[in-house]
Parts: sequence; structure tokens; C-alpha cells
Amino acid sequence: MRRFHLSRDRPPVELLRSTVRREQTEEYDVIVIGGGAAGLSAAVVLGRARRRVLLCDAGAQRNSCAEKMHGFLSRDGESPGELLKICKEQLAQYPSVGFEASVVQAVEKSSSGFRVELTSGTAPVADLLLLATGMADALPEIDGLREAWGRSAFVCPYCDGWEIQDRPIAVSGGGVRSAIDLAQELYGWTRKITVCGHTESLSTAQTTWLHASGVRVDAHPIRRIVHDNGHVRSVQLEGGDCIDCDAVFFSVPLKQGSDIAERLGCKMNGARIEADDCNRTSVPGCFAAGDNVTHVHQVIVAAASGVRAAIAINDELVCRDVRQLV
Ligand SMILES: Cc1cc2nc3c(=O)[nH]c(=O)nc-3n(C[C@H](O)[C@H](O)[C@H](O)COP(=O)(O)OP(=O)(O)OC[C@H]3O[C@@H](n4cnc5c(N)ncnc54)[C@H](O)[C@@H]3O)c2cc1C
Repeated sequence: MRRFHLSRDRPPVELLRSTVRREQTEEYDVIVIGGGAAGLSAAVVLGRARRRVLLCDAGAQRNSCAEKMHGFLSRDGESPGELLKICKEQLAQYPSVGFEASVVQAVEKSSSGFRVELTSGTAPVADLLLLATGMADALPEIDGLREAWGRSAFVCPYCDGWEIQDRPIAVSGGGVRSAIDLAQELYGWTRKITVCGHTESLSTAQTTWLHASGVRVDAHPIRRIVHDNGHVRSVQLEGGDCIDCDAVFFSVPLKQGSDIAERLGCKMNGARIEADDCNRTSVPGCFAAGDNVTHVHQVIVAAASGVRAAIAINDELVCRDVRQLV
């Protein structure tokens, strides 16, 4: 367990708004759960607004397996770890933001706010809560997949399509999209596609497209990914065939990165948390941002979502501050 305040130059406590320490219970304006792009962006905005924030993070960002992050303006091709490092360094400038490298295992809602239980044994409280807990990919059990995941086994054409352009790839379905839908999307990047494990009946339009596109379909699922240090060389199918390829794209089922939203009683929209334009969930005082509220899963989108939530959160804190004075 690591627990520290990111800032080395903490200002006197009286400079911090609305925070007191009573009987070992730390009180914050906001507790942010999740330190990916969404949670970090929110913490920066709230730190700049001089709000007292605790950012709790288990350190398992969804793209932490990837060698490079693409499509983020000004950071295209940077490693996800480097982005996090820079974000944390910049966050350290804001003295009212605390960071705890710990898992939130339970959240209790009371009339005055939220009490958060951490695996570190502490239980801080806050007026408001931001869930920036991301989504998790439910990976199939395929030999070699974990090693290749994020290096040459991918989910998102926008993240990794450019790197495999005109190269041979395998596509496997079964998740949020059918393999044929994913293959049609990837066709703009490469035409050398083999769809593996497709057993659903094809529509007339799909059959016509497959015929015209030259995309191959094999009903046998992938049994093993043959790779060299995570870089795919071929896939072995259940039927015994081996297909040479440079990458595999998967459509996998997605679930929430944490079940906290469901346990708090937040209304869900399929696998996502339902949130309004200001990132408010159905539970008063609880906000959500990042992958967990949208179907567009990109780091820059998650960062923007965190900013939007932070501004809505600060608006709510401003109302609280006004109420306290009148
Ligand atoms: C293989 C792969 C490659 C990708 N490549 C790209 C790319 O190139 N470009 C791009 O823009 N996007 C890419 N993405 C998508 C990108 O990873 C996500 O859009 C982005 O990480 C979402 O940010 P987030 O802050 O919402 O969630 P995350 O980054 O997933 O962060 C959520 C954080 O919450 C923490 N957390 C969850 N529950 C708890 C808890 N109970 N207590 C404490 N902490 C908790 C997690 O440990 C994690 O650190 C990729 C995704 C994958 C799977």
C-alpha cells in the first residue's frame, strides 16, 4: 500500500476549503475512484479549483498492457505508462489532491455523503464521489493471448489499425460486435482478413460482402496464438489449420471495471453506468466518467469526460458553499 500526498509543498490546512480531520477520519470534498485518464483529469481540474480530493487507484488501467497509445493529440505513439507518469507529476503541483494506491472495496452512502473503504484499512469520507473505474475486457482463454494482448492482439481499429495496414490479420468475434461487423470495420485498414470461429448464420448482405471482399471465414475458433515475445506470428485453429498473420483483433464482452456502481444502486444502461450530460448518475452525489459511461473507448475521450465531470462536481460544491454562508 502506498499512501502519500502528491504535493511536497502542502499549504496550511486553513487554506483548504471544507476539510477537517476528525477522529482519524479523513474528510474530502470529493473522492475519485480510478486513476486512469478520466480520474486523473478530474483530479487536476478539481485540484486547480482548490478542492480537497482523494484519488484512489488500483493501478490497472485498461491499456496498461499496450506498448503504445495512439490517437491522443500531441501524445500519439507514447507509452501508456509514460502518460500516467507525466499526469501524476503534473497533479503533484496541486496541494489539495491526495493519492492512494489502493483498491476501494466498499462504498457506503449516507445523508451527508460517501464513506469509502480501502484495502489499506482506511475509510475516508467525502461529500461527492466520482467513479472513474473504467471497463474490463473479458478475454477468452486462448493460449498465448495474455502475452500478445495490447502488443499484437487488439480490440480497437482506431487505436491499432494504422499499425497493421495492408498486413494479414485474424478477427475473432463473440463480444460486443460480431466478427463480421469488426471485419467490415477493419477492411478500411487491411483486406487480408481471416474471420475465425464465426458460426452464426450470415445475412444475405453479409454473404454478398464476404464474396466481394475476399475476406475468408473459418468456423473453427482460435486455439492458440503463436507469438514471438507478444508479437503474433500465426494462429492455430481448433480444426488444426494454422493461419499466418501479424495481429489478431477480438470483439470481447465488456464489463464494468468495478461493481461499485451496481452496489451503490446506480442505474445501468447495459454494461455502462447511466449518466446525464453532466456525468451525474442516478445516485445523488455520485458521478461517473470515462469508459464506464460511453461506448467510445479512447484515452482522450476519457480525459475529456473526467474534465466535464469535475466541472459539474465543482458546480455542486459551489452551491454547497453558498448554502453554508447564507
Ligand atoms: C488493448 C487496448 C489498447 C488500447 N489502446 C488505446 C490507444 O491506443 N488509444 C486510445 O485512445 N485508447 C486505447 N485503449 C482504450 C483506453 O485504454 C481506454 O479508453 C482508457 O483507458 C479509459 O480510461 P478510464 O480512465 O476510463 O479507465 P482506465 O484507464 O481503465 O482506468 C480505470 C482505473 O480505475 C481503477 N479501478 C477500478 N476499480 C477500482 C477500485 N475499486 N478501487 C481503486 N481503483 C479502481 C483501475 O485499476 C484503473 O487504474 C485501448 C484499450 C485496450 C484494451
